[in-house]
Amino acid sequence: MPDFCAAYGCSNERTKKTKDQGVTFHNEGKRRQAWTLALRRKGFVAKPRTVLCSSHFRPEDFDRTGQTVRLREGAIPSIFNFPKSKRNHEVPTPSPSHSSPVSVFFFFQNCWKWMKVMLIFLFYSLLINLFFFFWSRRQKQNLST
Ligand SMILES: [Zn+2]
Repeated sequence: MPDFCAAYGCSNERTKKTKDQGVTFHNEGKRRQAWTLALRRKGFVAKPRTVLCSSHFRPEDFDRTGQTVRLREGAIPSIFNFPKSKRNHEVPTPSPSHSSPVSVFFFFQNCWKWMKVMLIFLFYSLLINLFFFFWSRRQKQNLST
């Protein structure tokens, strides 16, 4: 029996083609109630045979440590292609956790830029100092001979 994804507006089916695309299908397991709520389909109740494809889950919902890709316990589908009228009911996905490492990265990148400027400046001032040091020493040697 073919497995179709139960999500609204999704036509993914468990075939060789979707498998090649990296789409995996997942049983509702013990998450039936949460899935039924998340799917928001009128009169729809997740059945034991209900499957959802991997495109409705965030990357962090998967456990890829084993040989097969498995859903983490309590993973709730959050990516759906709802029509516009349903969109405002969508569960907002938290995003600040994604932006903070990026801003930290840019901060350090900026720091490194200024560090380089400082290092170049220090390097040249050292060169100039060395030049004058040897030059004055030579002048003294010339005077003494
Ligand atoms: Zn799907």
